[in-house]
Amino acid sequence: YQAKKIKNSYSFFTEEMRSLNAFRADVEHELRGAIESCELWMAYQPQINADETLYGVEALVRWQNEKLGFVPPDKFIYVAEESGLMKELGEFIIQTSLREIGELQKELNLSFSLSINISVVQLMEADFLPNLLKIIAKENFDRSSLTLEITESLSIESLDDVLPILYDIQEHDIQISLDDFGTGYSSLSILRELPIDELKIDKSFIDKILYDESEKILVESIINIGKNFHMKTLAEGVECIEQVNELKRSKCDIFQGYYYSKPLSKEDLKKFLRKG
Ligand code: C2E
Ligand code: MG
Ligand code: MG
Ligand code: MG
Repeated sequence: YQAKKIKNSYSFFTEEMRSLNAFRADVEHELRGAIESCELWMAYQPQINADETLYGVEALVRWQNEKLGFVPPDKFIYVAEESGLMKELGEFIIQTSLREIGELQKELNLSFSLSINISVVQLMEADFLPNLLKIIAKENFDRSSLTLEITESLSIESLDDVLPILYDIQEHDIQISLDDFGTGYSSLSILRELPIDELKIDKSFIDKILYDESEKILVESIINIGKNFHMKTLAEGVECIEQVNELKRSKCDIFQGYYYSKPLSKEDLKKFLRKG
């Protein structure tokens, strides 16, 4: 039975793999010229405090390609990582979001936080922090309002390499957020080993809190753990007011999701901020 099952799934697997490989090859090929031909831009999704004021925005990369159409980031970031393109892409992301948000803050005379997603591959580049600091200086950006989002899927093996970099980052007043918290396999002990300022509770939990009591208890517990470790807690992917109310009852600090706003272009973010 085992052998048969493996055989069946094997033939299915290769079919899927063939088209996946073709797609991946296309993505890699098209991605090589994407920055220079201005196919990439940044979108910004507002993050809202419990008192309904603005906390900040998360920068999310966008790619529209002539041949492939719109390609979502989780379909091309890993390709960039595997094909050595992440350094250039990462620098574009950091450079563009610091410049655009810095300009907006000055223009509207507003100060708010900017979160940028950083992949572990990016973080491990030898000159990651020096380059980041260079861009911050060039853009004259306020370091203390910058947060780097690192996903929890950090493997335990990479932890030893990542730890000193994270401490270095924190020593420069830059905040660290643990993204997609609860979805990885890492143990809770990373919460005391890593210098984390914010826990970002994954959307997959938030989705279920209204109808699944045990999921609600789980989220409440995560919020309490965050509080006890003096971390901010942010709920991602909130889509309705009932979720927000429930999370406010559990004393979650910050909310992000379609209920407040989808990710916006720089122009639309400006309109959103002007409306207050
Ligand atoms: P993430 O960092 O967890 O980002 C949240 C994702 O959820 C975003 O998808 C956002 O558009 C989406 N989202 C936010 N609120 C809602 C909601 O209420 N409902 C639903 N259905 N979705 C919501 P996106 O932009 O497709 O990004 C997917 C992932 O790709 C991100 O997950 C992040 O891991 C990665 N990513 C995006 N931009 C970048 C980037 O600039 N650099 C790196 N390294 N990774 C990025
Ligand atoms: Mg994120
Ligand atoms: Mg997330
Ligand atoms: Mg997520």
